[in-house]
Parts: sequence; C-alpha cells; structure tokens
Amino acid sequence: MSFVTRFAPSPTGYLHLGHALSALTAFDAAHAAGGRFILRIEDIDQSRARSEFDAAIFEDLAWLGIAWEEPVRRQSEHMADYEAALQSLIERNLAYRCFRTRKEIADAIASAPHEAGEMFRGEALPADEEAAKLEAGEAFAWRLSLKKARAALGPAYFTLVFEDETGLVRAEPDKHGDVILARKDFPASYHLASVWDDALQGVTHVIRGEDLRDAAHLHVLLQKLLELPQPVYRHHRLMLGEDGKRLAKRDAAATLRALRDAGKTPDDVRAVIGLS
Ligand code: GLU
Repeated sequence: MSFVTRFAPSPTGYLHLGHALSALTAFDAAHAAGGRFILRIEDIDQSRARSEFDAAIFEDLAWLGIAWEEPVRRQSEHMADYEAALQSLIERNLAYRCFRTRKEIADAIASAPHEAGEMFRGEALPADEEAAKLEAGEAFAWRLSLKKARAALGPAYFTLVFEDETGLVRAEPDKHGDVILARKDFPASYHLASVWDDALQGVTHVIRGEDLRDAAHLHVLLQKLLELPQPVYRHHRLMLGEDGKRLAKRDAAATLRALRDAGKTPDDVRAVIGLS
C-alpha cells in the first residue's frame, strides 16, 4: 500500500517543540513505511502569515534532519482551487450565506444551550431579504449547511466512518455545526483548503496532534460531499508547556530556534519530545 503523509504548518510563528513532534512523527512514519513525506505551507490567512516565519519553517525542519519533496505547495498560491471547491458546494445548495455578526452568532448559540459546544446552525435567508442585504453591501460568510448535506447524502450521512489509531470511528459532523467555509476577508477556511490539498496531494495518512481530532469528523463529510478520497487519520499526543497547557506560539523558549541558539542538537529535541 502506498503511504503519503504531510506536515502542514502555518507561518504565523516560529516552530516549537509541538511542531517538531508533529513533523518528526509524520516524517518517521513515512520513512518506516517506505512512503513519501510532503511539506505544505498553510498560509491562506494572509493577515497572520509572515515571510520570516515562512523561511524559518524550512530552516528549522532541515536542521531537524527532515527532508521533503519539492515543489512545496503554498496554499496562498492556489486560492482559485479552494474557490472552485466552495463553488461546487454552493451550486449544489450545500452552502448558504450567513450575514450574522460574530456577536449575533454567539447569542444564537447561547440561546440554544442543549446544543453542545460552539456550533451554529442556520439557513439561507429568504431570497428577497438576501438580495436586499447584498444590495446594501453587507458582509457575509459562506457556511456549510449540515441540514442540506444530510438531505443530499441520505442514509450515508449517518454511516460515515473514518479510521484513526483507535480503530473505526463513526463520524459526527454535527459536532461542528454549520462551519464557515469562506468569508469576505478570508476566501477559504482551513477545513476546505486542507481537505482539498490532502486529496490533491494524494495524502493517504493524515498525522497531526490530538487537538485536531474533532476536525476529522468534519473533514470526512467534506471529502464525501466533494467526492474526494478519504485518508487514514493518526493523532499524536500534544507537547505541554510548563503551565500544563498545550504549547503555543507564546512559548518562546520552546521554539526550535531558541533551543538551537541555546546549543541544543536535533537529538536533544528528539529526546525532549520522546522520539529518540
Ligand atoms: N495548518 C494547521 C496548523 O498549523 C495544520 C493542520 C493539519 O495538519 O491539518 O495547525
């Protein structure tokens, strides 16, 4: 069986020990399987992406001893792909315009406390109301309609499954509510672009942190709706900071650059993240 996996960082900060764990787990798995390892730059959020972080990704991964295939796909250069994927959902009436503000959405969620998490559900406005808002230039987001997805897929909606390290898992896209697929200032969401690229790049194994475990429940629905192949999922433990919370961009001391400057070696990094 072919094995293709990837590491898909966003250039919004320096890579830290958590990224090292993700990248090396995927790289080692590809190596062990005699498979391929892909690096993808997820920079669709151009308001947060910075070129120095982008350059640092390449430097830091090479320092760790990771080798990737060229050319590297940079999502900001392929926005038309994601727009086309969005368009195909819109044409099949699987997405709707949502004109609500963040505050209105938060209020709508708060008024439906029996619905878990931060999920939101809605539907398209009546055509005349929508036309008036468009005419007035009101901003909107495109949301995936779970109701329409359910109607389109029929019983298959309820039998969606995916494989992860725990075995076969029944997908529960309802966990997410009607997710935002695109916004005026943000023409494609992470979910849409990531699912699209994993398929385009022939990724057979998505290996990433536990913090993205829930994302698989939505991603397999998007794969089904967009008629894309479904990869296998593997989630790894998270690296925690001294405060016991997941390492984040604010933990400067844990960046690979800071560790390198302090004289640590790639083997030291492996030891710290438990991958020696
Ligand atoms: N760009 C995402 C991140 O940096 C990667 C998510 C994924 O691996 O699917 O968190």
